[in-house]
Amino acid sequence: MDISIVVPLFNEAESLPELTSWIQRVMKENDFTYEILFINDGSTDASWEVIRQLSASDPNVHGVAFSRNYGKSPALNTGFRRAQGDVVITMDADLQDSPDEIPELYRMVKEEGYDLVSGWKKKRYDPLSKTIPTKLFNATARRVSGIRNLHDFNCGLKAYRREVVKHIEVYGDMHRYIPYLAKNAGYTCIGEKAVHHQARKYGVTKFGLDRFVNGYLDLGTLWFQTKFGIKPMHLFGLLGSLMFMIGFIAIFIVLVLKCVSMASDTYHFYATKSVYFYLSLACMVMGLQFFLTGFIGELITRNSPERNNYLIAEEF
Ligand code: UDP
Ligand code: MG
Repeated sequence: MDISIVVPLFNEAESLPELTSWIQRVMKENDFTYEILFINDGSTDASWEVIRQLSASDPNVHGVAFSRNYGKSPALNTGFRRAQGDVVITMDADLQDSPDEIPELYRMVKEEGYDLVSGWKKKRYDPLSKTIPTKLFNATARRVSGIRNLHDFNCGLKAYRREVVKHIEVYGDMHRYIPYLAKNAGYTCIGEKAVHHQARKYGVTKFGLDRFVNGYLDLGTLWFQTKFGIKPMHLFGLLGSLMFMIGFIAIFIVLVLKCVSMASDTYHFYATKSVYFYLSLACMVMGLQFFLTGFIGELITRNSPERNNYLIAEEF
């Protein structure tokens, strides 16, 4: 099979027939063998009924329904586990992504050898309240992930070599950082293609402004996991040592001031009235906490079944 198209959806009943016939047309024109995997993420509208009907009239259309709304990432992950095509393409169900991009995305993965090609909504049809924070968000993601050539991390339209999706696990809200996950799994040939974007035709967006707060928190988590996931002490030990160092310097200053004051008849120094005293106290307590967090982190990683899971690229 050439292509698996994975479509996560939550309450998108009106868009589905149009999207399906558009994909079918593109597939037919290009002679691709394909499957469409609709992952119904707990829709409360008629989406599942529509998918049933679409599947009845085309054996290439398959559906998976969650028992409730889990989120876009779990939906994508489920699609990835089931996909059988050589190239796996994800797209949103709301008709904002154009199926006409599929042949070129397929070619880039197949012929140009990309592991992952991400769409880039160069000209967006979204409100300003979304496009401006998105620019900031992408700039941060580029820096933290080290994937300098991507303008649009969170584009729903992406193409992957099958092997890539089988080796990454998308959970929580991590769909925003799939290129980062792929890079961490060793798939570094990541490209980009400017794609057409359209305004949402039916229904409403499923993500509010909290997407930006959560997006940044997730980026922090991913950065921490990437750098210190199996050696947490390297971070917490460093922070703890820094705190202890500041604490020792502060207590040394207190001692010196006390000695100077004792040697003088007129100058009276009270340690408990000095800012350095409190600084050293706070730093020592925080330093200890950092070390304890580090030790607990090490105990947890030692017990993690993932601690010795390496992705082998080749062997004889
Ligand atoms: N989606 C989903 N589960 C959710 C939220 C969204 O499967 O909990 C799907 C949604 O139906 C759409 C895609 O994810 O197919 C992108 O969502 P949306 O278009 O609302 O996001 P936006 O384009 O506003 O970023
Ligand atoms: Mg959308």
